[in-house]
Amino acid sequence: MKESKNTSAAGPRCPYEKKCGGCQFVHLPYKQQLARKQQREQSLLGAFGRVQPIIGMKDPYHYRNKVHGVVATDRQGNGYTGIYEEKSHRIVRVDSCLIEDQKADAIMQSVAGLMKSFKMKAYREDTGYGFLRHILIRTGHHTGQIMVVLVTASPIFPSKNNFVKALLKLHPEITTIVANVNDRNTSMVLGEKEQVLYGKGYIEDVLCGRRFRISSRSFYQVNSVQTEVLYHKAVEYAGLTGKETVIDAYSGIGTIGIVASGQAGQVIGVELNKDAVRDAIANAKRNRIQNIRFYQADAGQFMVKMAAAGQKADVVFMDPPRAGSDRKFLDAVLRLKPGKVVYISCNPETLKRDLAYLTGHGYRVKRIQPVDMFPMTEEIETVCLLTRK
Ligand code: SAH
Repeated sequence: MKESKNTSAAGPRCPYEKKCGGCQFVHLPYKQQLARKQQREQSLLGAFGRVQPIIGMKDPYHYRNKVHGVVATDRQGNGYTGIYEEKSHRIVRVDSCLIEDQKADAIMQSVAGLMKSFKMKAYREDTGYGFLRHILIRTGHHTGQIMVVLVTASPIFPSKNNFVKALLKLHPEITTIVANVNDRNTSMVLGEKEQVLYGKGYIEDVLCGRRFRISSRSFYQVNSVQTEVLYHKAVEYAGLTGKETVIDAYSGIGTIGIVASGQAGQVIGVELNKDAVRDAIANAKRNRIQNIRFYQADAGQFMVKMAAAGQKADVVFMDPPRAGSDRKFLDAVLRLKPGKVVYISCNPETLKRDLAYLTGHGYRVKRIQPVDMFPMTEEIETVCLLTRK
């Protein structure tokens, strides 16, 4: 069957659709996007049990709280931002995006617009010359706080005070500005060194009634509205009674563990990224949570140590990156024997692989709930409940 390309039913069209490639489903009406995702989940995960209907968004546009632009300058020295053309390193100019926060997009334009008068050149990957590489903007969905991260090729920021002043004059709503130095030839956006130019150096947001601080390099879910839906499901699946020992693996800034802590005996969070762990510890303190501890470690190694020490866990929340979990981690889960595993996944392919392993070793899949965290794209988030047979 040919797909209909009915513009009105599909909502606004994106002028950058072909060159960007970020939104594979933008040409489809939202209902059809959801149907496609449901089908894909069904074919990948249906063998494990009933796949619940995917939870979509009421308004599937401008949901991204994190916005990123690659910086470029034209022949006249005007700055602009865009994206790398799919499968290349050519920069396609993008002035607005259907899925990004609109305020953040406007600020990005303003930063680029200031470049010429400050004689600031975009960094060029091919020659290694130039200064400003990327602009990253994070907004707090509930708090309205805004962080602007200026990623530069060198630690020396000419006229930085005046640049900050000029930007704040255009956008007094910005709450913090950070200069991040990335002097390496890499596809990673952010470098290691950072200098706070204005404000606290991080933003805060409210999620499920708790307040979280988020620094530039910590992971934070990009769709705040659907994250609350996802976390509510995850905590509901855990069925906590207030006594359990809970592990929050791949904990990021501690969101899931902190949200679950009120209904648990104790929570142990484990996360690899140092900045994220620092945020998580601050977040526990900020929310006055006494029964949670965060550890900076590889989740698999940490779990192996826990199992070797004879420790027990009742519930394991796991929320690994796209590559999924690893054998070390899953084997440690099997040794720790939690009654419940709540697996949150942003990649149904690796989820399928990991579910196959767990169900082959004493676990049963009880619930499969897809949540649409990434409208217009083909990405699917899933939360699964597994119990011990
Ligand atoms: N649960 C958090 C973060 C999920 S994203 C949330 O919902 O916001 C996945 C997290 O896993 C990232 O913070 C990443 O830094 C972390 N991570 C990646 N590999 C890891 C590993 N081997 N061990 C522990 N954490 C890891």
